[in-house]
Amino acid sequence: MKVFFDVDYTILGLDNSLRPGTKETFQKLLNDGHSIYIWSGMGERWEVIEEHDLKKYISGVYEKPKDNFDKKFKELKVPEVPDFVIDDYPEVVAHFGGLWVQPFFFQRNKDDAMATIYEVITEVAATKTSSNKHYKPKGTILPLF
Ligand SMILES: [Mg+2]
Repeated sequence: MKVFFDVDYTILGLDNSLRPGTKETFQKLLNDGHSIYIWSGMGERWEVIEEHDLKKYISGVYEKPKDNFDKKFKELKVPEVPDFVIDDYPEVVAHFGGLWVQPFFFQRNKDDAMATIYEVITEVAATKTSSNKHYKPKGTILPLF
């Protein structure tokens, strides 16, 4: 699958640290035949890719639409359509399909979200769905409250 990771609070903390297990998870996804893309509502985050030495894992770096998803996805000319997104922002996950993750802030906090991310991606690749409550299929309508 084409797996799109958000940057801020998904793989990158407020303290600029990389979420624990990010590189190991990227490598496992590549080994399983997936492609990894990085996108952000703040634009193409090449500085993060460089600083954390992520280039060898990824197939593309794009700007992510934050609202009006269909329209802005076209306007931003994102050249690949995500099969699965990982984001701390529920609307993005509901629109494109994927997994919502608890925001990651600081290296000192215990965090094992990457293990869950790998499990759910693997499950969806095999069965087209997941029983994880934070998994949303593409085009999910979120409740208003
Ligand atoms: Mg984010």
